[in-house]
Amino acid sequence: MLMSKKLIVILLDGVGADLFEQYRHRLPHLQQLARQGTLVQRLGADANANSMPARAGILTGVDATRHGVYANDLWDGQRFRPAAAGDLQAPTLARYARAQGKRVASIGFGLVSEEDCDWFLSPWWQDGCLRAKSLNSPDIHSLTGNNESLTRVAANDHRLLQQAWKILDEKRPDLLLLELNSPDYCQHVLGNDRELVAWSLELVDAQLGCLLTRLRDSDLDSQYNLAIISDHGHQQVETALVVEHIIPEVSTHCDGGLLFVKHDDATDMVGIGEKLAVFGVRALDNRSYLPTEKCDRLSVFVAPPHTSFEPAAKHGGSQPTAKPRYISTHGMGPDQPGDDRIAIFAGPDVRPARLARADSLSVMPLLVRLMGLFDVCEEPQTC
Ligand SMILES: [Zn+2]
Repeated sequence: MLMSKKLIVILLDGVGADLFEQYRHRLPHLQQLARQGTLVQRLGADANANSMPARAGILTGVDATRHGVYANDLWDGQRFRPAAAGDLQAPTLARYARAQGKRVASIGFGLVSEEDCDWFLSPWWQDGCLRAKSLNSPDIHSLTGNNESLTRVAANDHRLLQQAWKILDEKRPDLLLLELNSPDYCQHVLGNDRELVAWSLELVDAQLGCLLTRLRDSDLDSQYNLAIISDHGHQQVETALVVEHIIPEVSTHCDGGLLFVKHDDATDMVGIGEKLAVFGVRALDNRSYLPTEKCDRLSVFVAPPHTSFEPAAKHGGSQPTAKPRYISTHGMGPDQPGDDRIAIFAGPDVRPARLARADSLSVMPLLVRLMGLFDVCEEPQTC
């Protein structure tokens, strides 16, 4: 049966299945939602368990060979550059919803296009949240720390939540997309301090609790279902491979445990593979990662356990290995349980259930169903 309720989608960046299991007893609001609704204990990772490919999977329900966002950075013919909404080759939940007359708000959610929203705020890493549509003074950056700091990320989460609540309270959109990033960044830079990692989870749990209370107090809780979905897990890293010092003068993109390499021909590729193999790096079969018709000169490699790829810009000296700048990361290659994440669905149309495991691409069809969207079609122009 099709549902017809409104939907709030909150992406919790970097909340792995194992991490949630370890600390859920300290997260009263997520616990309660998990108990009242459906908890997916292990939501399988996308082929590339990094932030942009995972968002693309959640939003489109298809894999990278079809949505095209195979990595956080994409090869544009000249260089690797950050993936953006315009790179998606498949329609998103926001586009489907809007095409069926729903009103859509995206508050800092990566890869959602402004064109598909009634209210829009760009993600904090893109244009510094300066692009906003139909929002009065989003004022996102008045609480800033250093360029890369936990304070900045936590302050952004706080501001995004305030903005999201304002939209919910005043406009009551049919679909609201929001993301909270503190746990991911905290693990990247402080992942070996488990109490701080637990704090970052408690922080987003408390922020969520605040939103839930406001929904309840305004009688909006009966109108909205909730989907809380993480994009990937995290694994601690002991060694970083400094790519430019192993294969100099090659265009590369470091994506956690994955390395994307641009090469000129097969001979070139053999040489690159041999140099990387010295450090235990192995080539991956590209088919599940890359839309091959667009990427015939790209190859994917995976780092050995407890190892990641980092660019030389993050490190002094010329050594091929270094202490990692991100001491915990993700995108560790195929079938790595550490990349698995959680999802929780709750609200008036969600029955209590616990699923031990679900496939990465099963999320989007469920969101479509919760919104009561019909005949989700393949081509955006025909929607
Ligand atoms: Zn992420």
